[in-house]
Amino acid sequence: MSRIGAIFRAHDEAYCRSSGSHLSADQRRVLRALEACHTPALGGVRWQCSRCGGAVFTYRSCGNRHCPACGYADAMLWLARQKRLLLPGVTYHLTTFTVPNALRNPIRNHPRELFPILFDAAASSLLALCRDPRHLGALPALTAVRREAAA
Ligand SMILES: [Zn+2]
Repeated sequence: MSRIGAIFRAHDEAYCRSSGSHLSADQRRVLRALEACHTPALGGVRWQCSRCGGAVFTYRSCGNRHCPACGYADAMLWLARQKRLLLPGVTYHLTTFTVPNALRNPIRNHPRELFPILFDAAASSLLALCRDPRHLGALPALTAVRREAAA
């Protein structure tokens, strides 16, 4: 059973009451997934050894990438795949863009419309800065990854 899921199940109502207006539909879906992870809500699987007949029952996992019980492994697999794409001898830099507080709720509530605009603005800024001979004077390659910070 997921510990974070147990916490959300115990305090879901109070949490949603206190921050409900700030939660997007996607965030509510994540909460529901974490609450249901490794519980009867998602059903289960009975595993039985063909030799000794010993059996074990496990509840299904939610598979949500935000779930610490089952999404962490997927995140590590994604990271390993990304590392295999890195070119040898090439310098990589991590640049983090944050948005002002006033834009957080609109972006959470309209991610399909606003994330592309945010990514385009971030890419344009980096490309302009890197092309400038006073800085890098080169054309970089960019990979953008969306990560939502905790509220
Ligand atoms: Zn899970």
